[in-house]
Amino acid sequence: RRAHYAALKDKPSVTRDGVEITLLHNSGLVADLPMLEDTGAKGVGLFRTELQFMIASKLPRLQEQVDLYAEAMAIAGERPIVFRLLDIGGDKVVPYLRSMAEENPAMGYRSIRLGLDRPGLLRTQIRALLVAANGRPLKILVPMVTETFEFRQTQAVVRKEMERLRRAGQPVPARLELGAMVEVPSLLFELDQLLPDTDFVSIGSNDLVQFLTAADRANPRVAKAYDPIGLPRLRAMRLVVDAARRHNKPVTMCGELAGKPMEALALMAIGMTRLSMGPASIGPIKEMVLNLELKPIRDAVAAALSDGADGIGIRDLLGEWVDRQ
Ligand code: PEP
Ligand code: MG
Repeated sequence: RRAHYAALKDKPSVTRDGVEITLLHNSGLVADLPMLEDTGAKGVGLFRTELQFMIASKLPRLQEQVDLYAEAMAIAGERPIVFRLLDIGGDKVVPYLRSMAEENPAMGYRSIRLGLDRPGLLRTQIRALLVAANGRPLKILVPMVTETFEFRQTQAVVRKEMERLRRAGQPVPARLELGAMVEVPSLLFELDQLLPDTDFVSIGSNDLVQFLTAADRANPRVAKAYDPIGLPRLRAMRLVVDAARRHNKPVTMCGELAGKPMEALALMAIGMTRLSMGPASIGPIKEMVLNLELKPIRDAVAAALSDGADGIGIRDLLGEWVDRQ
């Protein structure tokens, strides 16, 4: 199968009826970036920068952060990397950062909340990214945005650091794009306020599904009761796709859903065309894309989303299409 998938790597990722689907990697370690060559993916849709912090024994200094980001960009070459700002807290434990005991860490002091509350940490990371880019284009993603003001505050820090670099006569990124993750349900109802200010959005399905269903993503006993592509979740994700289209901004799925065939099909059916996933999933998903007649599935899923699925579940409906291909 490996050789079979390798043969697909240079084929354009386009459905039989002409819809281009951009396939990207989820990553976080420099070690897995050379795999971009093997999979033919268009870039890294989600680089989890907290991994460097999680495997270190003390806080990585500015220069260590610069080195890691510069090396990642050097390996990726022309292919863009979306660097996600530190998403620490919740299930991502950094032992040397003093944390408080929390009843509900997933809903606690974490991610950009922590970043904005401890601006030194955030400023250092943003500075490291800007320096590492060394004049090249740069994409930065803000995790766990709950309300637009958090995005704007982060944007202000980025602008300040850019200005600082300029004044010091150092190169600033040729183009800087700042995006927000949609993974807290509150943001679903602020998309029209958020989108004019963002360059792109990324859906984090792992957290979005956990918070929509109030079911801990790490607890299979409750999480498996709710299908991530069940109709209520798909409707929520479609809100993001539709809003992004209204504002003419790209939307990427960077949660783990995009790497599973049936789930990826559901996402394409609601209009998502940028999918980021573990590198091992690129081959199988690309094969599906190449064999896919997408338009009729889009119509069937749209009908199911507005009418309810006539007692037939979304998986049965998609399964029928998969069988027919
Ligand atoms: C997500 O929540 O879907 C996501 C991509 O981020 P993480 O899994 O790192 O929380
Ligand atoms: Mg998340």
